[in-house]
Amino acid sequence: MLYYLFNALFIFLILFFFDTTLTLFNKVAYAATLSFLASILFYFGINFWFIFLGLVVLLFLLIGIHKLVYIFRLYNFKKRYLQLHNYQSSFSQLQKESKGLCKDIKPFIKAMNYNDFLQTPYWKIIATKVKKNANYQCVYCKATTNLEVHHKTYKNHGCEHKFWKEDLISLCSACHTKEHEAQCEKSH
Ligand SMILES: [Zn+2]
Ligand SMILES: [Zn+2]
Repeated sequence: MLYYLFNALFIFLILFFFDTTLTLFNKVAYAATLSFLASILFYFGINFWFIFLGLVVLLFLLIGIHKLVYIFRLYNFKKRYLQLHNYQSSFSQLQKESKGLCKDIKPFIKAMNYNDFLQTPYWKIIATKVKKNANYQCVYCKATTNLEVHHKTYKNHGCEHKFWKEDLISLCSACHTKEHEAQCEKSH
């Protein structure tokens, strides 16, 4: 009986402080029902709170592991793709390895010197993909030499691996210069 009351009170307190969607009546009802179930389990030698505690510990452990894996992946990604060295990788590999990391990659890239950024494996792989997708042609004049990759917008800078189709185009250096002059005039 004491066990039952203790459980009921405990469950009620949890509901009281952590759930704002239930009415008071429902909270009491849930607490009574759940503690009744807990009492039955206890009768058969299973301590409900022991299982509950075990699950909470397991949850924190999983969150901790998930966080560690994330940190490790981010560290690896920065080392491979955002440093000035030659790292050979395919575009699909880059996309796979960057999955879920955008939130932390973006501010990191934004803080980089732009000319350094252009030398990173990250940019080189994406720029190659953009040119390849345009059949190695300038999208304006169809020239096939001196191709460069132009940002139509910088709003997704640092997340080019996700927005390359919308934001990046392949231009020859002549058209690229003209494009920037046109943009310059527009903004003046
Ligand atoms: Zn062109
Ligand atoms: Zn440009």
